[in-house]
Amino acid sequence: MMQCNYIGNNEFETFKKIVEEKYNPGRTILTNIKTRVETSYIQYLDRFTELEAKPSSEFTVAEIEERNHLQGCYSSLTETGKPIKASIFSEQPTVLKMLCPFCLLDKPKTLDHYIGKDEFPEYSFLVKNLIPCCYDCNQIKTTKWRENNRRRFIHFYNDDFFDNQFLFSDLTIIAETPIINLSLQKPENLSDEDFQIIEWHFEDLNLIQQYKERCNSTLSTELKIIKDSSNNGLSNQQIITQLQTSESNYADDYGLNYWKSTMFQCMSQNVDELLAL
Ligand SMILES: [Zn+2]
Repeated sequence: MMQCNYIGNNEFETFKKIVEEKYNPGRTILTNIKTRVETSYIQYLDRFTELEAKPSSEFTVAEIEERNHLQGCYSSLTETGKPIKASIFSEQPTVLKMLCPFCLLDKPKTLDHYIGKDEFPEYSFLVKNLIPCCYDCNQIKTTKWRENNRRRFIHFYNDDFFDNQFLFSDLTIIAETPIINLSLQKPENLSDEDFQIIEWHFEDLNLIQQYKERCNSTLSTELKIIKDSSNNGLSNQQIITQLQTSESNYADDYGLNYWKSTMFQCMSQNVDELLAL
């Protein structure tokens, strides 16, 4: 897993431009609430942690027109809005152009409103709130971003704990069949709060099970490769070094918590057992 590249440079200027490109009555309605939107933006951008416990939007349910036009800033493709939405996909690191940051399994074809636009319409077109996401993750996450005032999903612009390894694999051998299991373990320098978000993120998106299926479906091929290497005269230590190289190559490209990286880490720690099969 890795952080997304945040491309928003002047979020409120973008909002003002989008408003200017709107037709009336939207333009007037949005112009009248500009200051309130700016205050909301500042809270998100500078004091994001406050939002977990914020009861509701600045815009009450009675302000139907205001809420609808704020949401329309996202859905209607203005001259300013359209290329920004495209850039959120195109200006990501190479891996995240192809893989959804939430799962690293599927192509990110949608933008997830981290904080849902029905709940907080003021963040409908805040770039910091728009995260590339695959269809499945977006469907599962829907509007659920917090529960009991605690965030339940990783925020891929704000959270920066990816230099810690928290995803691990271990090997069990049952009736001569090797099985890889994955688990989350809290690194020492990660706070309990951050680790809890990671645990919920994995739980809600069913990532451990999905990664386990992928590991075990590729394990037999990887097992053949190391057995061939052994038969061709490579020592166990040389095979360990090869597996560690694969582990670090995947970690460099996809982050320390990529399922393939932890799979090679696990294999490198169990070469004797694997070759004895
Ligand atoms: Zn996904």
